[in-house]
Amino acid sequence: MAFDSLSEKLQNVFKSLRSKGLLTEEDVKTALKEVKLALLEADVNFKVVKQFVKSVQERAVGQDVMNGLNPGQMVIKIVNEELVALMGAETTEIALRPGSEITVIMMAGLQGAGKTTTTAKIAGKLKQKGRKPLLAACDIYRPAAIQQLQINGEKQGVEVFSMGDGHKPANIARAAIEHAKAKGFNTVILDTAGRLHVDEEMMQELQEIKEQVEVHQTILVVDAMTGQDAVNVAVTFNDKIGVDGVILTKLDGDTRGGAALSIRAVTGKPLLYVGMGEKLSDLEQFYPDRMANRILGMGDVLTLIEKAQETIDEEKARELEQKMKKAEFGFDDYLESMSQMKKMGGISSLLSMMPGIGGSQIAEIENAMDEKKMARIEGIIYSMTPKERANPSILNPSRKRRIAKGAGVDISEVNRLVKQFEQSRKMMKQMPGLMGGKGKRRGGF
Ligand code: GDP
Repeated sequence: MAFDSLSEKLQNVFKSLRSKGLLTEEDVKTALKEVKLALLEADVNFKVVKQFVKSVQERAVGQDVMNGLNPGQMVIKIVNEELVALMGAETTEIALRPGSEITVIMMAGLQGAGKTTTTAKIAGKLKQKGRKPLLAACDIYRPAAIQQLQINGEKQGVEVFSMGDGHKPANIARAAIEHAKAKGFNTVILDTAGRLHVDEEMMQELQEIKEQVEVHQTILVVDAMTGQDAVNVAVTFNDKIGVDGVILTKLDGDTRGGAALSIRAVTGKPLLYVGMGEKLSDLEQFYPDRMANRILGMGDVLTLIEKAQETIDEEKARELEQKMKKAEFGFDDYLESMSQMKKMGGISSLLSMMPGIGGSQIAEIENAMDEKKMARIEGIIYSMTPKERANPSILNPSRKRRIAKGAGVDISEVNRLVKQFEQSRKMMKQMPGLMGGKGKRRGGF
């Protein structure tokens, strides 16, 4: 599968970063050097890699560490965001004209890139969206191409317009558009001829089509297996005929995936879809964020990071931290901190990413997070006087007995809670990531 090797390498780099509590600038540099190598080995364009590493480095150095994240996680977050930006940030759709106005889409690409197959795949997608597509067979040089389009069109339930191989492609295109107007189709997809290599004749033919009919979208199909050649082909086509979007085929194959990471950055044109197999349903919309997550193999880690950012109440976290520092941390604060952690859901995964937190401590916190237990704990805390809550050290046996009675629990439960509270106090001191205020820097960068 594409990106497997890159993904593995990047994950190894990040694993070593995550295991460090503090990062020096040197750590970041070393890690980025490895990231650079991994990207180059994945056949990502050299200039793109250089710019990418530079951007990450600039952002990582001098970056404030956010709430709930350690410096290593911060670097991962930046790499992820830069990968997304590299691939175009937003998902780009094929621009279609509204309603019955005909949109003409010209498909271009080298022979064997998967153009004819992709043309039929796109027709299927557009049909699903409620469009009325017509396929036009403009590849007059390869008789098999017309037949292939007809077979695939039939499979997709989409009409194919053909005039055989005796007419110029531009004339076929014009006739196809007339046919579409007459028959109520609102999208015409032109399957044009490819060549083994970029050649003048092919470019001229495409230019001629563009001159003679109004083409609204020119979509280039390139083969991911050809690596940097795919990028070069994209540059040439864009220079010569102008391209609106690119479809990268065969990403299901054993490709290193570099083209997916380079095309947008090198040509400035978005990737629209990726081909993930030979079947006509094997075409996926291209989502830069999902692709980045897939490459980093850390979709859930990122979700957790986002959750932490979303749910931690900065003000409260700062207050709690101050109280902890001044040893004023009481049971009310304990309740508050528990509810904050509870809001984050997957607490154990989050904790396990934090340096200095071991398995038994995680189990204990998880245990305390249990809903029913939380309710009992709340009952006990609410049976305390405000003074007791603020200052747990005054809890002598007679006060504990009174509290147990008030909460309707055994005194041993009160004892256990007090003990747990003391332990939590200790633990929270080891967890600056959860309790720390924004702007606190724990890294050396
Ligand atoms: P064209 O010459 O550019 O029109 O290319 P074709 O559409 O004839 O495709 C060439 C070959 O690539 C065919 O065997 C297709 O089945 C295959 N192909 C196209 N897209 C994909 C893809 O996304 N994945 C895989 N594995 N094969 C593909």
